[in-house]
Amino acid sequence: MALLLIHTGGTIGMVASDAGFVPQQGVVEDFLATLPEGREVETLRLDPLIDSANATPADWDRIAETIAARHDRCDGVIVTHGTDTLAYTAGALCFALEGLGKPVIVTGSMLPLSVEGNDGARNLRDAIAAARTATPGIWVQFARRLLHGARVRKSHSRAFDAFAADPSDIPPCQPGPHLIRHPVRPARIAVLAVAPGAEESLLDHAAKTCDGLVLRCYGSGTAPDTPGLRAALAAAQARAVPVIGVSQCPEGGMALGTYAAGAVLRDHGVIDGRDMTPESAYTKLSHVLSLDDPQTRAARLSRSLCGEYTP
Ligand code: ASP
Repeated sequence: MALLLIHTGGTIGMVASDAGFVPQQGVVEDFLATLPEGREVETLRLDPLIDSANATPADWDRIAETIAARHDRCDGVIVTHGTDTLAYTAGALCFALEGLGKPVIVTGSMLPLSVEGNDGARNLRDAIAAARTATPGIWVQFARRLLHGARVRKSHSRAFDAFAADPSDIPPCQPGPHLIRHPVRPARIAVLAVAPGAEESLLDHAAKTCDGLVLRCYGSGTAPDTPGLRAALAAAQARAVPVIGVSQCPEGGMALGTYAAGAVLRDHGVIDGRDMTPESAYTKLSHVLSLDDPQTRAARLSRSLCGEYTP
């Protein structure tokens, strides 16, 4: 079996420094060299190695491009990544790679391989095993679980078991006869939350300047029905700016129409993000805003592409 490991950075490959943990070349490579199964893994480092706090959509594009370039020559791919924005990268890869024919396993750790008692060794071994056996798609291997790449979120900032994902019958993969890579292009996307009495000028500014908006709503899809929110959403609608509404609740998701108090959202064409995570809504917007054709954009926004929400 030929496996490819793309190392991007993150805690798994870090060492301690005076300023805190920093990425260092060789940590992941040296660990792989100690594993019998490491012999079938070719490692590619994306320079510079980063703390995933510094990841950008350009990094998602680079990872997707690297996978696409090697897709036909390997049996599975492992991506080692920082946990802070791992869910964004996993989501972005789900949307960028259509017709994926191989498993892509994203993993990382809460403690570096360079630290005794770390979780990285187990996660990496499990990720290699999953890259040999999982079905095609973007999966996250973490703390003994294989999670859906478009539904995953970091749910704990310290525990080894740091990720959660609602289960889905739909694999984390856009079906297709052959691989198509959708480039990720820069777009101005804002992520804003409603809160009782919160300042609304930011929302107004985003509606007038951004290309897309993720709006974190209450519960199953309500928001304060204020003149400020109405004006901002009307401005977004007039500019044809897609606004995806997601719930501030980690479980359950939106169901616009449950409450009359959600009318302010429905009246202005806010897209019901259902049980999509904010990370998934953000990366889906990034994907559709990278497409040129407005009709294709609208069509892809209006359906679940890879199980990112429960249809
Ligand atoms: N700050 C680190 C990162 O996201 C956290 C981690 O990897 O666990 O790169």
